[in-house]
Amino acid sequence: MASAAAAKIAEVRETTRVERIGAHSHIRGLGLDDCLEARPVSQGMVGQLSARRAVGIVLQMVREGRIAGRAVLLAGQPGTGKTAIATALAAALGSDTPFTSMAGSEIYSLEMSKTEALTQAIRKSIGVRIREETEIIEGEVVEVQIERPATGMGTKVGKLILKTTDMETVYDLGGKMIESVLKEKVQSGDVIFIDKATGKITRIGRSFARARDYDATGAQTRFVQCPEGELQKRKEVVHTVTLHEIDVINSRTHGFLALFSGDTGEIKPEIRDQINGKVAEWREEGKAEIVPGVLFIDEVHMLDIECFSFLNRALENEMAPIVIMATNRGITKIRGTTYKSPHGIPLDLLDRTIIVPTSPYEENELKEILSIRCEEEDCQMSDNALTVLTRISKETSLRYGMQLIMTSSLIARKRKAHEVDVEDIKRAYQLFFDEGRSVQFLKEYQQEFMF
Ligand code: ATP
Repeated sequence: MASAAAAKIAEVRETTRVERIGAHSHIRGLGLDDCLEARPVSQGMVGQLSARRAVGIVLQMVREGRIAGRAVLLAGQPGTGKTAIATALAAALGSDTPFTSMAGSEIYSLEMSKTEALTQAIRKSIGVRIREETEIIEGEVVEVQIERPATGMGTKVGKLILKTTDMETVYDLGGKMIESVLKEKVQSGDVIFIDKATGKITRIGRSFARARDYDATGAQTRFVQCPEGELQKRKEVVHTVTLHEIDVINSRTHGFLALFSGDTGEIKPEIRDQINGKVAEWREEGKAEIVPGVLFIDEVHMLDIECFSFLNRALENEMAPIVIMATNRGITKIRGTTYKSPHGIPLDLLDRTIIVPTSPYEENELKEILSIRCEEEDCQMSDNALTVLTRISKETSLRYGMQLIMTSSLIARKRKAHEVDVEDIKRAYQLFFDEGRSVQFLKEYQQEFMF
């Protein structure tokens, strides 16, 4: 029985791990030495040496507090690692440094104004490191159960049960939460922190919920077994939340559940003023400090003139994050005007921007990146297969090549092979089109049916 349960947990952990592998999860830093020179392969980063070195100097400027009022622009072709470098900078700044990545086009959402979308992105990129004196018990979630009411109505949830090895916490959600949203966000393997005095959860893993909000859900922790000394106790807990999370949690119209779904809508300016005041107070009392994070805006040429002036002003703010923009455009029109400018960015913003170019990868660098990704995705690949995959990536794109890792690995598994071989890559290449072949296919198809 016990071993069956253990197997279940192991299985759940396994899926959790796979789910959390993101496009940049292999990146742990900029891979620089003490003199800020880029090592050819280090911390998951490969090649792109001069760009990494330049961003290393930006890192130094951030550490010395000399970046204020400036932005960075990564200019280069698609797939040359612009997002990767921005992620690496955030990782180099520390594990609790917030990193927000958005595409310029995201601000044209129907749900909120452009400046609200930018304000939220900026506040998501500013962390507040809060210290609290309390005795906290730390446990790992081993099981998440959702209990529906016997006569429940479809998606409404009755109870959420989080189990760690030492305790079981039951939330009565009163039908407030949509099951799928919750399942996605609280997973086995997450670390939960429980205030020993009150038995309330103060925080779950890397998520952001704060004690007060969990209280509101009526959570109750039952200590199943508490062998003395086995639980980890901490006197001081430090956690970092973003300004945006504090805004949402304190916004009466949203509440913390909105953080799970990401559907926060617009936030009233009065709430933000209050939060800014509160944070300033905490800072004065030595209870909190600001952690400037990284806001990465891809396809920055998609922003329009209003957004650019808003950004320009935001950079002046004392609490501004490090803004890294990326583009693959040369001289182009500034959206919302009839003027052209380099990268579609107005000159007043360009003036305060440090431009770092990224260049296409050599074949051996592509091979190294693909090999790192194979390891990240737990995929064994023969050397021949990796060579073919590298060739394909060079002719199509690195992103496409990376997609083929998982697909060819599944194909190999189907034929019960432990290693991906050339035939699996070929099969995946035939099944899944890259951009070029897909466009070609549709063109041919169109010609057959359009007169
Ligand atoms: P786009 O312009 O299409 O947004 P990009 O320049 O931002 O592309 P990335 O998304 O950073 O390119 O790169 C594509 C993939 O290759 C990502 O998974 C990224 O982590 C990885 N990658 C790119 N450059 C490097 C590098 N120098 N070292 C390690 N991994 C890299």
